[in-house]
Amino acid sequence: MSSARIIDGKAFAATLREKIAGQVAALKRDHGLTPGLAVVLVGEDPASQVYVRNKGRATRAAGMASFEYKMPADASQQAVLEQVATLNNDPAVHGVLVQLPLPGHIDAGAVTQAIDPDKDVDGLTVVNAGRLMSGLDGLVPCTPLGCMMLIADHLGDSLAGQRAIVIGRSNLVGKPIAQLLLTANATVTMAHSRTDALPEECRRADIVIAAVGRPEMVRGGWIKPGATVIDVGINRVNAGGGKTRLVGDVCFAEAVEKAGAITPVPGGVGPMTIACLLHNTVRAARRQAGIDSDVL
Ligand code: NDP
Repeated sequence: MSSARIIDGKAFAATLREKIAGQVAALKRDHGLTPGLAVVLVGEDPASQVYVRNKGRATRAAGMASFEYKMPADASQQAVLEQVATLNNDPAVHGVLVQLPLPGHIDAGAVTQAIDPDKDVDGLTVVNAGRLMSGLDGLVPCTPLGCMMLIADHLGDSLAGQRAIVIGRSNLVGKPIAQLLLTANATVTMAHSRTDALPEECRRADIVIAAVGRPEMVRGGWIKPGATVIDVGINRVNAGGGKTRLVGDVCFAEAVEKAGAITPVPGGVGPMTIACLLHNTVRAARRQAGIDSDVL
């Protein structure tokens, strides 16, 4: 029998998307402003095509303008950089996102850093990483932002006195989440592949964030009773009979018995990512239109 509260990211994201649609309608009505998100896809990677399609659908469903630029797999780096520069200068486009991964001959770092930081709705430029690190308003990467919204909904905005552990230190997920937890006054430990005695480190934490990419690595015995567990991992594993299923980085069946609250996979952090992309696009549009000059 499960004891933890299941944090329903799907329902939370649906509510957030409704709120965003309301904000977009108000921006159109009161300011004649339609937030626009442009997504650049290079090549034909099937998973990337699905992600881009889903982002476009969610953008339009919120009442925003969606622009998709599909470039061939052999597009030159120069051509991709020129596309980004065009979007940086397009006043109808408030958010620019280049779908990763890019084909091997393109320097993904150079392309990402070419995005205007005020249109960088994925929050991946060094300018936005620096703003986050310095406690300045900026555009925060979508998955970390989604995790923090779920945590705040469950524990409140102040995490003073709470010990948090973030397992994983990528620029996309682990590092920004750790920074956001620190900003919320948690006492933060960052763990990674070279961390010793990870289960013991984990057992001290009131908040566990798993962002590793290893199926069900975090076991029930690693969880402090009553802890809040946020599982960022998305891993496809063999389910037998030629089928696959999605699991997180946490062994849900074990952890749900120990945790106070836990996100499932799927249906936890995953749905928050696109909702936060829409949220960031609205913020960027407001700022660029001078409506919230203090927001970024
Ligand atoms: P990365 O591969 O970039 O980073 C993984 C991190 O995990 C690294 O810091 C690595 O440490 C650490 N790690 C690897 N093995 C271990 C181990 N045995 N013990 C402790 N730490 C370990 O992955 P991402 O950060 O991009 O993604 C993490 C997970 O989140 C993936 O499952 C991914 O699919 C998922 N994800 C989900 C999203 C969503 O929308 N829900 C969005 C983005 C990612 P080191 O630095 O030492 O190598």
